[in-house]
Amino acid sequence: MTLTDSPPPTDFIRDIIDEDLRTKKHGDRVATRFPPEPNGYLHIGHAKSVCLNFGIAAQYGGTCNLRLDDTDPSGESLEYVESIITDVHWLGFDWADRLFYASDYFERIYEFAVDLIKMGKAYVCSLNADQMREYRGTLTEPGRESPYRNRPVDENLDLFTRMRAGEFEDGAHVVRAKIDMASPNVVMRDPIIYRIKRMPHYRTGDTWVVYPMYDFAHCLSDSVEKITHSICTLEFENNRPLYDWFVHHLIADDRPQQIEFARLNVSYTILSKRRLIELVEKKYVTGWDDPRMPTVAGMRRRGYTPEAIRAFCAKIGVAKNDNLVDASLLEHCVRDDLNERAPRAMGVLRPLRVLIDNYPEAQTEEFDAPNHPQNPDMGTRKVPFSRVLYIEREDFDENPPKKYKRLGPGREVRLRNAYVIKFQAMTKDEKTGEVIEVHCTYDAETRNGPPPDGRKVEGVIHWVSAEHSLGAEVRLYDRLFTVQDPAAVEDDVMNYLNPGSFETLVSCRVEPSLAGAQAGSRYQFERLGYFCIDVKDSSPGALVFNRIVPLRDSWGKIAGQAG
Ligand code: ATP
Ligand code: MG
Repeated sequence: MTLTDSPPPTDFIRDIIDEDLRTKKHGDRVATRFPPEPNGYLHIGHAKSVCLNFGIAAQYGGTCNLRLDDTDPSGESLEYVESIITDVHWLGFDWADRLFYASDYFERIYEFAVDLIKMGKAYVCSLNADQMREYRGTLTEPGRESPYRNRPVDENLDLFTRMRAGEFEDGAHVVRAKIDMASPNVVMRDPIIYRIKRMPHYRTGDTWVVYPMYDFAHCLSDSVEKITHSICTLEFENNRPLYDWFVHHLIADDRPQQIEFARLNVSYTILSKRRLIELVEKKYVTGWDDPRMPTVAGMRRRGYTPEAIRAFCAKIGVAKNDNLVDASLLEHCVRDDLNERAPRAMGVLRPLRVLIDNYPEAQTEEFDAPNHPQNPDMGTRKVPFSRVLYIEREDFDENPPKKYKRLGPGREVRLRNAYVIKFQAMTKDEKTGEVIEVHCTYDAETRNGPPPDGRKVEGVIHWVSAEHSLGAEVRLYDRLFTVQDPAAVEDDVMNYLNPGSFETLVSCRVEPSLAGAQAGSRYQFERLGYFCIDVKDSSPGALVFNRIVPLRDSWGKIAGQAG
């Protein structure tokens, strides 16, 4: 498939691929894969990897497989598999008939381990976990060889067969690669390649009681699928010699190459599956698709577009050093995309009643409002006007500051797409002193333009007709954490959840053209931001909107002031 949002990027990974194509290292093949473990939902970091792997395949006319890396039964499930498939598709990528499961390779991976044993390159070790740790050494001290290291091949084969047959308890034996206990790289000190784990697997059930370790299974899955460039995140850099060791001993030719890049971190959120699971399980959020979650499902429900996420991934690029990307950049990409595609509408989040005293009581008229100010192709819609309106409470100030361009005593303001109105009086709640109603007059001569007498009216505010507007619930979301780098805090990160990350407004009013709006559709509510009809909780008679992103970046301003 070809997804060309922007010109093909260049980066160190593409440089490597260019060179490999030049030297015909893999002929003219470019084969990548995206290999999530189905033990959680995909997040924005995974999206970076998805865009990278599928993007490279598309750019070079190669292939990208979707591989569920499901070799560790704990925590894996079909729900996660299904969510991954949905999310990668939604991001805009397609793997044709190349959906694979590492668990489909269990038999082959087992055979590879048998081969290593036969070569004298692996052995069954019967040290317990504590002993194993003790023998492993430290970063500064070499390890010691296991007393089982020189078990004869036949004995190893016999034990491994019996491990598989379920003769031993969990932890009684493991299979280890025979590499180098003195290696300065701890990863190379006879790593475990198989362990006994009596746990049903969501796909293979009780068939297996031995499971391969990630380092062993991953490079062999890559080899089985004839992957050319196995792109992963930087934490696997130390494991690359091990990757190479396994493929060197087990794969004859056309071996895959591991390349590491920096993982994405985004400010004010966390991208560790363990932490995201905790958020869901402890109900700090409403689920994996809570619109505050950095998951693809959460971003989709909130109203982010796949185009915006792809644009973000293209912007941040691919590099070798870890960094923290500002959440504002993602929000900027969302605004940029929605500015183009979202039709405009008017909605009032915190309504204040306005009476137009000189407008006939029974009268209604309709204004044609453009759906997009820069794009006439998006057409117009009818917006009804009548004597009683709602405006945003924030757009009225009893004691307005000098440069206030909205409504206040003595002020005039234009109603977007409609007349200029002028303040006359206000009614206050006797007890609280709160303004509950504002009386205005309208200037009938301003229907199609500025006042003919030449007086200036600078402010423009949004509004809806009280009688014609629809009630709606609007959910406002903000950043999930109050600290820029939640992953870096020393105490429990859950202490830094933003208590203001979710607010529900239940008495909002939106213009009647939204009555038939489809779940999931997105609008710009003029002057407020972008909003999306919630796919789960909204219904035609009871609209629920999620705020995708406000029009302006208030966090940037705050940060700017602080700096
Ligand atoms: P964990 O959060 O437990 O470390 P993981 O996020 O690495 O797990 P995987 O399912 O193994 O989960 O990830 C699938 C692919 O996505 C891997 O190739 C991994 O390198 C990549 N990936 C994961 N997180 C990020 C991230 N933050 N930035 C870029 N790529 C990522
Ligand atoms: Mg991982």
